[in-house]
Amino acid sequence: MIVMKFGGTSVGSAEVIDKATDLIIQEKDRKVVVVSAMGGVTDRLVSMAKKVVDLPNALVEEECNRFHRDFLEFHRSAAEAVIRDGRVLGEVIARIAELSEELRVTLLGLGYLGDLSLKPLDYILSFGERLSVLIVAGALESKGVKAKALTGYEAGIITDSNFGCARPVYSKMKDSVKAALLPLLKAGVLPVVTGFVAADKNARITTMGRGGSDYSASLIGRFLGVDEVQIWTDVDGILSTDPKIVSSVQLIPKLSYIEAVDLAYFGAKVIHSKMIEPAMEADIPVRIKNTFNPKADGTLIVREQERIERIIKAVAIAKNIDIVNVRGMGMSETPNIAGRLFSLLGENNINIPMISGSSESNLSFVLKRGDVSRAVELLNESFVGNGVRSIEVLEDVCIITVVGVGMTGTKGIAARIFQTVADNDVNIIMIAQGSSEVNVSFVVNAEDGNKAVRALHKRFIEDEIRSG
Ligand code: ASP
Ligand code: MG
Repeated sequence: MIVMKFGGTSVGSAEVIDKATDLIIQEKDRKVVVVSAMGGVTDRLVSMAKKVVDLPNALVEEECNRFHRDFLEFHRSAAEAVIRDGRVLGEVIARIAELSEELRVTLLGLGYLGDLSLKPLDYILSFGERLSVLIVAGALESKGVKAKALTGYEAGIITDSNFGCARPVYSKMKDSVKAALLPLLKAGVLPVVTGFVAADKNARITTMGRGGSDYSASLIGRFLGVDEVQIWTDVDGILSTDPKIVSSVQLIPKLSYIEAVDLAYFGAKVIHSKMIEPAMEADIPVRIKNTFNPKADGTLIVREQERIERIIKAVAIAKNIDIVNVRGMGMSETPNIAGRLFSLLGENNINIPMISGSSESNLSFVLKRGDVSRAVELLNESFVGNGVRSIEVLEDVCIITVVGVGMTGTKGIAARIFQTVADNDVNIIMIAQGSSEVNVSFVVNAEDGNKAVRALHKRFIEDEIRSG
């Protein structure tokens, strides 16, 4: 049994949904399908939610009606183009109309209240996937497949109540996923499940973070115990670097879980880094495939750590990053200040992608730009004057990560990486303390980022391939 997950571009138009459903039908194994919202829909919902809370009340209704009209029309026309069975089409369109109306009313309430907190935002974002599953399931039905659209919650994904970035509750999901999906599968019905969208134990809708459909897919895979999780996307697989920066990129045929996590976490956008853990826990291979080029082999992600001759498989870059420097002479005398500081950020859902050295009087780490102002506020409240003198932010840097099994065991590789960067006139601002076994990460100014990536990719991938 397998899970097939289709991302936003893979269900982005009627034409592509047609392709995706053919791929689903061609797959002979038993399967569960997970889908994202149609491409661009989640972004549109986010901007509409933000817009409507700021509107004067007199303009709210008109704006919501306009949005509703477009939203309904967009999904209805996709459904009409792809569902050829009249009865199925009628049912799907009726449901699309109901949900779009529910969205309109929710937006209306939000606009009048003028308060956009994470709970209502999750509710609003859920409509993207709740509509896309209807269209995909309808398209499958009209091609003669018995299919059923389900929300993540209906498929057994139960999360905590951490709206905006909800986490799965494993203790509940041990039974819930099987209980929800096995009876359908036994009855020959193909479940089509909303990615990204789940609910907490009180059935309140949650989302699992932007890009979270991959995570939904691997969670379902883990709790059903499938043989493979397939991520169907719009590129052939994970590439050796960003093709927008380097023209001669390589497709990486095989990666280990830990390499894939590092790459996804530090900039490769093909998969969500969180999706690897559930797959790894159950030893389920993850295969990345291109909906637009299904013949390509894709990238296979497995437990086995394969060391290749040239060691380095990829160079990733994470942009929109700032450095935070916490300073204070008393830091070393204040017990566990680093621990408490990182816990505070963690409790507030602020991830720390990279920590560099701490000394007696200084602690540096990097944050995603969007988290910086909140983090600084929290740290100011709790620490300044309490062992900390000041908090400084160094803006506009990026993290460069070089990934490959065998990096730590290969003499001189870090030196050669840093030398290559220096030879290209790029200054390294910060080096990650204790990079993982498969990566070396460091920070440079944002304006130097692409140059460093090109130099490293050329030296460690292009030149090595040419000479080897
Ligand atoms: N639709 C959601 C997003 O755009 C989830 C996903 O596509 O994975 O973030
Ligand atoms: Mg994605």
